[in-house]
Amino acid sequence: MLYFARMLKLDANVRYVKGVGPRLAEKLGKLGVATVEDLIYYIPRKYLDRSNVVKISEIKVGEDVTVIGEVKAVRKSVTPRQHRKVLNVDIFDGSGYLSGVWFNQLYHADRLVMGTEVAFSGKAVFNYGKLQIINPSYDILREKEDPVHTSRVVPLYPAVTGLSSNMIRRLVKNLIDSGIQIRDPLPLDILKKDDLMPLTPAIRQIHFPDNLAVTKQARERLVFDEFFFLELGLALRKNRLEKTSKGIVHKTEGGLLEQFLDGLPFELTSGQKKVLGEITTDMKRSAPMHRLLLGEVGSGKTVIAVAALVIAVQGGYQGAIMAPTEVLAEQHALRLKELLPGTIRSVLLTGGQTAKDKQQIHDRIKNGEVDMVIGTHTLIQEGIDFHDLGLAVIDEQHRFGVRQRISLREKGHTTDILVMTATPIPRTLALTLYGDMDVSILDELPKGRQEIETLVRDQKHREDAYDLIRQQIKMGRQAYIVCPLVDESDKVQVKAASAEVERLRTQVFPDLRVGLLHGQMRREDKEAVMKGFRGGALDILIATTVIEVGVDIPNVTVMLIEDAERFGLSQLHQLRGRIGRGEHKSFCVLFADPVTEDAKERMRVIEETGDGFKLAEEDLKIRGEGQLFGPKQSGLPDLKVASLVRDMKILASARDTAFSIIDADTVLAKPENSLMLEEVKKRFAEGTEWLFSG
Ligand code: ADP
Ligand code: MG
Repeated sequence: MLYFARMLKLDANVRYVKGVGPRLAEKLGKLGVATVEDLIYYIPRKYLDRSNVVKISEIKVGEDVTVIGEVKAVRKSVTPRQHRKVLNVDIFDGSGYLSGVWFNQLYHADRLVMGTEVAFSGKAVFNYGKLQIINPSYDILREKEDPVHTSRVVPLYPAVTGLSSNMIRRLVKNLIDSGIQIRDPLPLDILKKDDLMPLTPAIRQIHFPDNLAVTKQARERLVFDEFFFLELGLALRKNRLEKTSKGIVHKTEGGLLEQFLDGLPFELTSGQKKVLGEITTDMKRSAPMHRLLLGEVGSGKTVIAVAALVIAVQGGYQGAIMAPTEVLAEQHALRLKELLPGTIRSVLLTGGQTAKDKQQIHDRIKNGEVDMVIGTHTLIQEGIDFHDLGLAVIDEQHRFGVRQRISLREKGHTTDILVMTATPIPRTLALTLYGDMDVSILDELPKGRQEIETLVRDQKHREDAYDLIRQQIKMGRQAYIVCPLVDESDKVQVKAASAEVERLRTQVFPDLRVGLLHGQMRREDKEAVMKGFRGGALDILIATTVIEVGVDIPNVTVMLIEDAERFGLSQLHQLRGRIGRGEHKSFCVLFADPVTEDAKERMRVIEETGDGFKLAEEDLKIRGEGQLFGPKQSGLPDLKVASLVRDMKILASARDTAFSIIDADTVLAKPENSLMLEEVKKRFAEGTEWLFSG
């Protein structure tokens, strides 16, 4: 590499890169590129390999092809009858001419000017004696008089208006040629062990590859780095939690737990026994527990969590369980009352209590007159003083970032923590979002659980579905009808939903008892409806997705979901998990009219698969990870290059390597690891203190 001019630092503003003026800097900013380093890691979305390109003279009509040529003519015209505006762009590649044709999209002419080198892709046709591609997708490879040497493999970057792929390429080239200094934070032995390319060549090759094969290796190196430093941070944190903070040695054998287990109306499944064993082992160790319970919907996680809470209470400590919603917190409270030995004093905290009542409850918690507290995340985070909190169970609906979890620890830093996920999540996601925890998996359902038959239907089969509901109710069962309300505070949507409820009540099921439950209802009304339905005073419950998580009424055997294509897979699985909980066969009818390919695929998958873990992986594949991984919320570094779907294997080896390094050098104190420590701090950016504390 040639070094001239002044060497740029990685954190320097991108303005200092040759060729970047204020206007370009602003455009780059829109792409998330603010620093020199951002530009280096702005990697091509794909590559065009010239050796796979077809010569125009060798094209067979009807084939899908990619051709490369120089723009030789640009013509605009209007069709005689329909008056459509036509754009013709002729290119020449030395062997022949081909014309790209657009209708009513003249603006492409702004970019496809004479002398530009472009790649056209699409189906070749023969019209009016000419070879054409209608509506080709195109990439500009070289603008007129562009000095950049064109290589065999051309990187194509995600672009925006005013900043084309090859402008970006030129800037990257300027940057790399100016001799940017990149230190490789990974030592040689790791490069060797994990078969990785050194960093500098990896960066060069990802932008200016010698051949296509090498781009794969280069990418693997960058992916490894992202996973490795993330896992290294999590390993540091995990180690710190385990080795340096002192936890409670819980009393895991005792009368109360026995009494609780004996009182259950069922026997624990072997999976539940195993998981409870793992939790018990954690709780009696002096290191604080930090465990994730990952389970299939309906696998019986709650019972396990309650058993753990009983262990805490049995040793004289308090327990807390936090639910994602109030409906669920209330249900937990109800279940706990049924399950717990009468000597355990539990209390429910809700948003609806008067200030005076709340104060009284807070006082009792503080004075140790309460053994177990049930509430929502917000309520418990709001600063309750516990007398002696020994275990906090966090029941998560949506991923609750690694960072948020700490606020709890600060309340009593020795508190054991058990996190339960409401829906299964893919392993890769668990290893990143919850990578600082130990994981227990519950993937089997208790015996006697009913199979759920899932049927995706269109509107034509509405009457059949209503008949199914009537039949089941005649047999003494109950039904849910779920209507999606994207925004429960949207008046128009609420009105439409109410109209549908009226229709069902008065026209479809006038002879049946129909109730309604949605998030905007007053608390007392919600409680009354749930109580009525649970007690059998209602046949049908029409609900929004407030019933999504946790609601457990075994007598319900039919669920009808409206506009099912609007839900994600995990959400549908979670909803569906509300039925099939008793001794009767259950049916889930999804009314859907999927138009997009994604939606069709989702409907196909949910109809075929009952396995939540498999569904979660499919969901990740279909939706991509953008929505799943929200780094802002999780407190974890962003994944720019790596994909949780594509790169599972790399994640596994990066994690192994990271954890073994921390095993040998728990706080990265050895001089040979100092670059790694620096890199972790940099990647976790905003406030790394949580990695090193609590
Ligand atoms: P999850 O929270 O995992 O979705 P729950 O804890 O709500 O599942 O359990 C679902 C239902 O299964 C509850 O009614 C619970 O009482 C019941 N259950 C739990 N464990 C068992 C078991 N071992 N055998 C039979 N039923 C069980
Ligand atoms: Mg412990």
